[in-house]
Amino acid sequence: MSERLLIRNGRLLDPSSGRDEILDVAIADGKIVGLAPHIDASGYHVIDATGALVVPGLVDIHTHAYWGGTLLGVNADKVGPRSGVTTWVDCGSSGAATFEGFFHHVIKPSRLRIIPFINLSYIGLTQAGNLSIDVGELFDWRFADLRELRRVRAEYGSVIAGVKLRASNNACGANGPVVLPLAREAANILEVPLMIHIGNAPPIIDEVLPYLKAGDILTHIYNPSVGGCVLDQRMRLRPSVREALARGVKMDLGHGGASFSFEVAQAAIEEGLLPDAISTDIYAHNIEGVVKDLPHIMAKFLSLGFSLEQVIRLTTCSPADILGRPDLGRVELGGEADLAVFHVRHDPVQVHDSLGVGREAPTTLECALTLCRGQIIDMLDDGRAEGRTYSSDQSRKGRDRGDRK
Ligand SMILES: [Zn+2]
Repeated sequence: MSERLLIRNGRLLDPSSGRDEILDVAIADGKIVGLAPHIDASGYHVIDATGALVVPGLVDIHTHAYWGGTLLGVNADKVGPRSGVTTWVDCGSSGAATFEGFFHHVIKPSRLRIIPFINLSYIGLTQAGNLSIDVGELFDWRFADLRELRRVRAEYGSVIAGVKLRASNNACGANGPVVLPLAREAANILEVPLMIHIGNAPPIIDEVLPYLKAGDILTHIYNPSVGGCVLDQRMRLRPSVREALARGVKMDLGHGGASFSFEVAQAAIEEGLLPDAISTDIYAHNIEGVVKDLPHIMAKFLSLGFSLEQVIRLTTCSPADILGRPDLGRVELGGEADLAVFHVRHDPVQVHDSLGVGREAPTTLECALTLCRGQIIDMLDDGRAEGRTYSSDQSRKGRDRGDRK
């Protein structure tokens, strides 16, 4: 932990400061203690980053990391080393009933930084991903229990960084009009941002957006679903989305297994809806499918014409700022030594959206090193597979309804 490291001669790209130059980075006691063109290596363990890209540890603002406690959960400590993601924002995997287990069994022991948003539903996402049970977490609105959220707040206070609501038919059925105001109230009580997921209606996106204010987060912004799409039938941005943008609602990609369409993204971007964060919505059923990891999603945005600087900004300081964490997603003297080292490959690869539409990504990022709080995060093999597939019966049922996770 207290090892002194010198990452030598890499291209340091830090959008928060505008830095893009060849530099040495010195690390001691979990902090960055030197940033200069040449630092004396004596007393340091040297990592040669010649020809590689050095960036702040990535911040993925939409993940599902409650492995063992939910079917969807993936083990951040196993995906982190191959992806450069040092900050994992878990979006509503746990509810008041299951938060204690998440905190003690997963968040505390992790070598990475897992930041939880708590689900409005008492049961969180314990049932999600099991289509044979097929009961959304808010099919019964009594699970939206504010007393229980107050109890968790009293116990865990500032650990909880946000409230999450899945406002789509598969999660809350027809209960949108009841649970939307309760989600607003919950975020007010906890004094944290509210993140709302949109998908298949009901509720439709126009009913959802009024509950989000400046600093809150809309996720799955380029999803192609009926009623939950940011575009109208003429592929124009809906007025409700323009209003949300104007009042400062933050826009999160949340790629997921069913929530990203290249066609929607291109049209929405042309209409002025840019993401404030590029995130995966990684979970056990898409980790071996269209999501894989954050660098894979970043390659899709490089294929859409985003610059490397833009893509790094949207996975470092921009999501950190949404979280109100100016200590994360940047490389500063005296700051947290969260870093990722990538090889930038210019061999084109095929990438796909959630609908299976393919594009060529001209550039990909291959993670060579992940460092969190100055500690090298080694590969971990606990003998457990992270990926899961729906059984063929279940996936057919999910496809018919068109409302997988
Ligand atoms: Zn999600």
